Amino acid sequence: MALNLIELDSPVLRMSATPVTDFGSRRLVRLAEEMDELRIEEGGIGLAAPQVGISERIIIVEVPDEDFVGIPNSPSIPPTVLINPEIIWESEEYIKLPEGCLSLPGMMGNVMRPSIIQVQALDLDGDAISIMADRWFARVLQHEIDHLDGILFPDRIENSSELWYVEHADLNDPIWNHNPVIQEIRENLNKNEPGESRTA
Ligand code: ZN
Repeated sequence: MALNLIELDSPVLRMSATPVTDFGSRRLVRLAEEMDELRIEEGGIGLAAPQVGISERIIIVEVPDEDFVGIPNSPSIPPTVLINPEIIWESEEYIKLPEGCLSLPGMMGNVMRPSIIQVQALDLDGDAISIMADRWFARVLQHEIDHLDGILFPDRIENSSELWYVEHADLNDPIWNHNPVIQEIRENLNKNEPGESRTA
């Protein structure tokens, strides 16, 4: 069974995902492997199970050994699977960084998030993992954990000048009907800004 990114209008992208319980199962291990294969194929640094239509609390993240927009010299993190991850602490300091998303092709935005977070999660066997993350690792984790609660990065942007398009993106999709920023952009479609970054 090969996984695919689901369409933007799929309700799974907007649902709160279910906690995983079958630790150590063949199903879970296989799912994590296939998610990572898809993530690499799509060129993403993170992927959450809802993005492939599976409403379960599983994410996989990697920070490659290269400079990213906004934070040079971010330490690399190997591909890491986190099950039922929870942010248990976040810094008072926020940082604004550009984000993209494999589920939102062509769309980019500057998102304010806490710069450092602590995450508790489980691995594929159900053993506890505790992570203190900063720089791009903190950013990718927050983006992916948002997916588990049905939150997409444009929901975290308050000003339309912080959102832009690097290629064709469907702003008329009903998924954005509740989002005032995107509605404003719909009305002002010619205001494109160039931008590039990695997608998460
Ligand atoms: Zn995403």
